[in-house]
Amino acid sequence: MKYACIHGHFYQPPRENPWTGEIERQPSAGDDHDWNARISRECYRPNGEARIVGADNILLRTANNYSWMSFNFGPTLLNWMETHEDWTYRRILKADHESRGRLNGHGNAIAQAYNHMIMPLANARDRETQVRWGVGDFISRFGRVPESLWLPECAVSDEVMSLLARHRFKYVILSPEQAATVISPEGKRLEVRSGDLDARRPYLWESPDGSGSITVFFYDMRLSQDAAFSHLMSNAPAAAERFDRVYAEGEDGLVSLASDGETYGHHQKFAEMGLAYLLTESFKARGISVVNYGWYLSRHKADWRVELAQGAKGLGTSWSCSHGVLRWIEDCGCGSDGRPMAWKKPLRDAFDFLRDTLAAAYEKEAGDLFKDPWEARNDYIRVLRGGKAGQRDFFARHLRRKTWATDAAIKDRALLLLEMQKYAMFMYTSCGWFFQDITGLEASQNIKYARRALELSHQACGLDVSSPFNARLDAAFSAAGVSRPAA
Ligand SMILES: [Zn+2]
Repeated sequence: MKYACIHGHFYQPPRENPWTGEIERQPSAGDDHDWNARISRECYRPNGEARIVGADNILLRTANNYSWMSFNFGPTLLNWMETHEDWTYRRILKADHESRGRLNGHGNAIAQAYNHMIMPLANARDRETQVRWGVGDFISRFGRVPESLWLPECAVSDEVMSLLARHRFKYVILSPEQAATVISPEGKRLEVRSGDLDARRPYLWESPDGSGSITVFFYDMRLSQDAAFSHLMSNAPAAAERFDRVYAEGEDGLVSLASDGETYGHHQKFAEMGLAYLLTESFKARGISVVNYGWYLSRHKADWRVELAQGAKGLGTSWSCSHGVLRWIEDCGCGSDGRPMAWKKPLRDAFDFLRDTLAAAYEKEAGDLFKDPWEARNDYIRVLRGGKAGQRDFFARHLRRKTWATDAAIKDRALLLLEMQKYAMFMYTSCGWFFQDITGLEASQNIKYARRALELSHQACGLDVSSPFNARLDAAFSAAGVSRPAA
């Protein structure tokens, strides 16, 4: 049997002003108010009702692409959609529901680490919260437990894999280039070079310390690259034929493709139409069944194992930096276009300084209020998603004294501390290091989050570390050859 799965990672960095909660007009988005609005118009909305046309461009019908593909949406993007793009938001929820009906309860949606941090570079505490918030957010929307968690930039290390195994996710999606060795059921070890493994089967990853395991699905690298960079969807029958050729190379199985969801309509105009045709017509014409990873795994357990590459400096690997995860720490050359990016390291250092300083302050202050301040932070998603009822429930669970649940001053202080922690994580949104300039939208946004966290630490703890923070930030700006904008 031939099975196909197309995964779309739909994501935009959070763009809201942390003081107002609103997105300011972004002139670079053109006629649209901001980039979220623009990409919704070009991609998220059209994929919810993609046109399928016949000869002479006559509209035959439409398809909700999300019903036919594996997908994840960034939680912070869904927050925005819920209020600004209601129709699309409901199409996404409906698609997950429909796919569960079609695929024996296995829905197309998977969760994402909450605000798109590079997980191998985060500390253990932040990683844990990112997973807990990602899962809590998912359950609040889709009404079920996610089977998988999308790792931002596919960034992974053995420690991150152990964390996913501990949280009992069933599988994770990675690039074949992230594998180091595969091991056959008979125990034969094969070294993987440049991703040359058989991606039609799932692999079992076992924690080196024996504490757990999780299945890995590797996407097909050539197909994924052609979807992202070579307009694979401009000709759906030809794309299906490309899939067919992969089955022909050996035994049947699952051939999957993963890319940014924005490929379909934003990066490539009309690609959502090609995708719709492929998913609902061209695959069928070749006897290829469209499924998702969760369904496939429920019928085909991994009998091969995999060990993952360690990446440069042993920090882990990703799908968009050939060195591993260096792109988010230093000038590794990726994405540079020959321009020096020496600001990356000092910017991360400034945030690490802030994170650690605020963690100590939080532990002290929130430790007086909560039974366990870090468990309270992990569970704060209940407040972020649960409205008034969620807040009541949260305080009932975590405050040290029952009587404090009616004490407005105590609760306000607790919320300030938790918001401080939220922004101390938001400042690590990966996009801040992805691009060339420290003065770009994404890095500036991370700096705003840091400033908001700093301000909240002053309000909640009477702390003022703006001078040492600014000194570190100055180092980052001067490394980029520009002066730091006034706070
Ligand atoms: Zn790199």
